[in-house]
Amino acid sequence: MTDIQPADTSGLGAIDRNAARVSVDDKAMINCRADVNQLLPLKYHWAWEKYLAGCNNHWMPTEVSMQADIALWKSPDGLTDDERLAIKRNLGFFATSESLVANNIVLAVYRHLTNPECRQYLLRQAFEEAVHTHTFEYVCESLGLDEGELFNMYREVPSITDKAAWALNYTQNLEDPEFRTGTPAADQAFLRDLVAFYVVFEGMWFYTGFAQILSLGRRNKMVGIAEQYQYILRDESIHLNFGIDAINQIKIENPHLWTEEFQREVRTMLAEACELEVAYGRDTMPNGLLGLNAGLCEQYMRFITNRRCAQLGLDPLFGPTDNPFPWMSEMMDLKKEKNFFETRVIEYQSGGALDWD
Ligand code: MN
Ligand code: FE
Repeated sequence: MTDIQPADTSGLGAIDRNAARVSVDDKAMINCRADVNQLLPLKYHWAWEKYLAGCNNHWMPTEVSMQADIALWKSPDGLTDDERLAIKRNLGFFATSESLVANNIVLAVYRHLTNPECRQYLLRQAFEEAVHTHTFEYVCESLGLDEGELFNMYREVPSITDKAAWALNYTQNLEDPEFRTGTPAADQAFLRDLVAFYVVFEGMWFYTGFAQILSLGRRNKMVGIAEQYQYILRDESIHLNFGIDAINQIKIENPHLWTEEFQREVRTMLAEACELEVAYGRDTMPNGLLGLNAGLCEQYMRFITNRRCAQLGLDPLFGPTDNPFPWMSEMMDLKKEKNFFETRVIEYQSGGALDWD
């Protein structure tokens, strides 16, 4: 691997006029020699399928009416103080999380993922993260929220800061201009970043956030935001599944990275992430809301954590745990639930091929 130059893996190297044509077998997830500018022949059909699925799911936050939410938010007795706190903290968490995820894709992951079909998906995902950040701008504007409060929560609310700082550590490792994959230590650092962002951030922390808002939506509260969260959830479940597939493919191609010790480390990361989320749940819902409280969110996070372990081929961290929010799986299947919020839905066209939660 030592003969691979950084410019070859990034795609910014000089064009080799005499290079042989790329064959499928030359393609690899990381540390690849093949030209990263050649999409065809496809090797990872799962990555291309997710790119197409993302495109089929296109939506914009401004297509969703906020009238009911505005009326409820402005009416003095429309929501309890506990509900308002939970909604604001939730929005505050997501408002900056989407750009943390986008930064990680663009500044850390893209450069080191040496496969064009995966990069095609990353480009689509990066745009979706921009749409998600746009959603929080639109919600903030529509409800007349204090933008300084919302967009500074990741610095000012410790339970949110703790999560952002935990994940940011992993990006910082990769963002260093000197960082290169190609050694076991560096390749493991890259895998850690994928775990931190795809499995933890998008695959664990977003899920309790979705459950909070969608639970309110089920009670006919903040239905515009709830609809937007359904679209975000649909996008995020593909992001998560892309991350799981990417990690598992890197494992297949580089079994020497997936040592017993490294597996223990990944399980520790998931355990830490679960704890951070439980603390955030308590902070966001100190008294609980109707049908939703910090205890149920803790149980849900344990259920989700075990599921993520299984998806990565790791032993579960917790004993058998029931899903306290079974309705969440219906929220992910917009086709089935298209009349739920009685709004228009862009049907997802290849859902059968993907593992949704
Ligand atoms: Mn997102
Ligand atoms: Fe995402």
